[in-house]
Amino acid sequence: MKVSFPSYSENERFARVAVSGFLTQLDPQIDELADVKTAVSEGVTNAIVHGYRNTLGEIFMQIRIFENRHVYIKIRDKGCGIADVEQAMQPLFTTAPEEERAGLGFAVMESFMDKVKVRSKLGEGTTLILEK
Ligand code: ATP
Ligand code: MG
Repeated sequence: MKVSFPSYSENERFARVAVSGFLTQLDPQIDELADVKTAVSEGVTNAIVHGYRNTLGEIFMQIRIFENRHVYIKIRDKGCGIADVEQAMQPLFTTAPEEERAGLGFAVMESFMDKVKVRSKLGEGTTLILEK
């Protein structure tokens, strides 16, 4: 599945519902859907609140299913990018403490998914890859 949508904050919910709808074709005994939805929610929220801070942009999301039980998700924004990815992924690191951000989004993604990869370039945007 490939979708793209504008970075309105309401679209965090749309992304979760879209992922959920697409993944219903998975083996129903897999009760990992909630984990995947949580990780997608963190990733899309980051694109909205950090990537496209004070601007509106497009978010691209791609999902693939492998062997009827593995999930590959790519979430991409063409926003501000991340200066230091390693630092950004440290638990409790946030550039928005005044907005009561905890700096735990990446930590949550890492605990709910098997693989979390981030590619980013300042001024060009960020690509997040999640696998389970
Ligand atoms: P929380 O997710 O707990 O609300 P947070 O979003 O600050 O807080 P993380 O999700 O772990 O924490 O992200 C850490 C930092 O990485 C962010 O504060 C931000 O600086 C940067 N970041 C993450 N995703 C993006 C993105 N798509 N574009 C630009 N910066 C990002
Ligand atoms: Mg976050």
